[in-house]
Amino acid sequence: MTAAVQFHSVSRHFGKVKAVDSVDLTIAEGSFFAMLGPSGSGKTTCLRLISGFESPTAGQISIFGQDVSSVPPHLRNVNTVFQDYALFPHMTVRDNVAYGLMVKGVDRKTRADKAEEMLGLVKLPGFGDRRPGQLSGGQRQRVALARALVNEPRVLLLDEPLGALDLKLREAMQDELKALQQRLGITFVFVTHDQGEALSMADRLAVFNDGKIAQIGTPSEVYDHPRTRFVADFVGSSNVLSPVVTQVFGGPAKWASLRPENLRLTSDAPVTGTVVSQRYLGSGARVTVHLHGQEVAVIIPAGQPIPETGSTVGLGFDPRALHVMEGEA
Ligand code: ATP
Repeated sequence: MTAAVQFHSVSRHFGKVKAVDSVDLTIAEGSFFAMLGPSGSGKTTCLRLISGFESPTAGQISIFGQDVSSVPPHLRNVNTVFQDYALFPHMTVRDNVAYGLMVKGVDRKTRADKAEEMLGLVKLPGFGDRRPGQLSGGQRQRVALARALVNEPRVLLLDEPLGALDLKLREAMQDELKALQQRLGITFVFVTHDQGEALSMADRLAVFNDGKIAQIGTPSEVYDHPRTRFVADFVGSSNVLSPVVTQVFGGPAKWASLRPENLRLTSDAPVTGTVVSQRYLGSGARVTVHLHGQEVAVIIPAGQPIPETGSTVGLGFDPRALHVMEGEA
């Protein structure tokens, strides 16, 4: 496996703020890698370190095996797509897309041909004469993508590129981005705070917390085997069970995670609790049950009766779904 990007104990501190703190990371060539984490956890700073707009205060970064400490941004073969697209409003779509080629001194005809090719790639053929103000949010997002791809980067950095889109468009663009990445074989590094987006799109993902990587792995490794309470909580709305409640469920006296969809309501389970609330989801319902000092969420399928608040319910589950965590924090 060739590593597209590697971090070796990389830190970026701003005074007392440890934006990125001793991060080790390997991103495989041709992969779709997601950086997931809450606001302020260091994701954007990591992207800026890769693009060269930020320098590490400690550690070393390599891109395709080359130490890039002294390589300026424009020589890194890396491009960024920003959340706000950063298009030039006074330029046509064509000139926006061809901007990187103009900077490189490519002639007008080749620029126009390349821009049209890229617009075809992002499904906007014939939009070259418009201005960004005459496009929808989703179309602007595609222009930003075309503008980055025209430079034929080996690594494409995407910083919350779908953040400004409504849900339906966002989902459509997720599918398109993934398909485009697979077709082009370019390494994508995608920053998001949306766990569903990271899980559904990435080959591998890193979960950030406070400038550190809390866990790194495939979506199913991270979702099914969260190492810490933070990861279990952040990646999907898991139940994080206290050591006492883990024991009630038959496990050791340790913190554990148990997904709401792995629990079911039954009349003959040894574990019982009191219903404190219920929320209709359309595709089922989410019922919150109080037991031994904590609340546990259960997803029940559509069609099953929703128990009333205050009623006593039994909780059944497959013991294999109880995941005892190694980490404490
Ligand atoms: P978001 O999802 O909100 O974009 P993020 O995970 O991308 O967050 P970063 O933008 O990397 O987080 O910021 C990490 C931390 O570093 C934050 O506490 C932020 O305030 C701080 N930080 C980032 N850039 C600077 C800077 N230039 N000067 C001082 N502090 C900074």
